[in-house]
Amino acid sequence: MNRFSRRDTIKGLALGAVAGFSARLGFAAERTTEQWPAVDVLVCGGGPAGIAAALMAARAGRKTLLVERYGRVGGMAVQAMVGPLMGRVRSAVVDEIIQHIGGRRVDYEFIDLKYAELLQKAGCEILLHAWVAEPLLDGQRVVGARLLTKQGMIDARARVIIDATGDGDVAVGAGATFDQGRGAGPTWAADGLLQPMTIMFRVAGVKHAETMEAQRGRKGFRFPDGRTWNQVTKDANARSELPPTVGMVRTYTSLRDDERVINATQINRVDGTKVRDLTQAELEGRRQVQPIVEFLRKNAPGFQNAYVSGMPAVIGVRETRRIRGVESLAVDDLFAGRKWPNAVVRDASFPIDIHNPDGIGQAQGVSSQDPLGKDPSVKPYEIPYGCLVPRSVNGLLVAGRCISGSHEAMASYRVQVIAMGIGVAAGVAAAEAARQNIEPRDVDAGKIQGMIFGKA
Ligand SMILES: Cc1cc2nc3c(=O)[nH]c(=O)nc-3n(C[C@H](O)[C@H](O)[C@H](O)COP(=O)(O)OP(=O)(O)OC[C@H]3O[C@@H](n4cnc5c(N)ncnc54)[C@H](O)[C@@H]3O)c2cc1C
Repeated sequence: MNRFSRRDTIKGLALGAVAGFSARLGFAAERTTEQWPAVDVLVCGGGPAGIAAALMAARAGRKTLLVERYGRVGGMAVQAMVGPLMGRVRSAVVDEIIQHIGGRRVDYEFIDLKYAELLQKAGCEILLHAWVAEPLLDGQRVVGARLLTKQGMIDARARVIIDATGDGDVAVGAGATFDQGRGAGPTWAADGLLQPMTIMFRVAGVKHAETMEAQRGRKGFRFPDGRTWNQVTKDANARSELPPTVGMVRTYTSLRDDERVINATQINRVDGTKVRDLTQAELEGRRQVQPIVEFLRKNAPGFQNAYVSGMPAVIGVRETRRIRGVESLAVDDLFAGRKWPNAVVRDASFPIDIHNPDGIGQAQGVSSQDPLGKDPSVKPYEIPYGCLVPRSVNGLLVAGRCISGSHEAMASYRVQVIAMGIGVAAGVAAAEAARQNIEPRDVDAGKIQGMIFGKA
């Protein structure tokens, strides 16, 4: 029995069981799958990659639909309170998007509307509360997505589909191969562990003039006994004044002087594609918040009266699947600043930032605060088109953090600005594939380059 017929049987049984109940409520007992008007480009996932992709496809004149499972576009920034926007790429469109949303510091209340404004102005239709349940397939070719919505299932068909779900949900549903987690490192065997999840949160009531950054900049700040903030945090962890996995408390400035965004909770050994792990991580992460706030009140200058002013809708997931593409990025490509003849993202830059999958703070080996002392900084690097093209599935491109690369390389290109740069490339390529009615893998990378970077 294939996955479609099994599901249909289960659906039939379930519908039979509830028929009497729904008839009493006035619903039709039989629900059919609604067919949405077909489009040229269907973008699944409304994070920075999906937004940039949909914008480019719509601006290229292709009929474009962006579907997002939650009620706001913006991805991790709006759902998980992630920010500021980090990383760099050479892209006029990315610069334009950042300018349009008001800069790199995220305005959590309104950033989604700014993104939506750009998309709708370009003619892209947005469907919120539409969860991609599975891809629609014609053999090895993705031809659309089945959406789970409050009005029932909707089939949305397109010439080209872009998987910007972060988790590669569409690609994996279509049978694409993928990698997950870390391989062997300097002090560990290959264990497939992922970067930890985090409940970001905001505190208000901060006296800005007294804070570390107002005094000497956080990095240059020292307490009267000579300790740095990181040392104070580690000592508190050793005294069990912080949860066992919390050994770094990052306080980011926000748009308001009296407010900080706190990146500190840490849930290790969980997988963002497993619903039981997500449930455990949500609960554990939220439970870590109060002790961290107590620690801040007691230790961080200016935080004596700080209180929690905002919790995210969902937990932040840093890393899940990396879809195997016809090409792949290795960490040495980033250290060397490797150039590719078919590069569709240029001058990407952000350190290899691995939050420790198996303990407090940052990972050993290559990370932004590497205890083994390896320099995590990269040379501005390029991303070849093949990283966006799944090896074995047609009709599909992937964009954002789920493209093809190693665990370490992904720890750099996962940040929002680089994800956007990847989205730009995916959107341009998908529009071109739809226009020429060819497979995304057959689009001439030189043509994509011309459209993104202009003539060299
Ligand atoms: C705790 C944490 C802190 C971080 N800090 C920073 C930081 O300070 N600066 C920075 O630049 N980056 C930071 N990052 C990284 C960054 O936020 C993400 O890697 C980036 O958002 C990836 O972009 P994306 O578009 O690939 O995926 P996402 O932002 O995850 O967007 C994917 C979108 O797809 C939607 N989606 C998923 N599955 C489905 C489905 N089945 N159907 C429909 N929609 C679906 C999601 O709801 C989401 O909107 C952080 C990440 C985390 C978790």
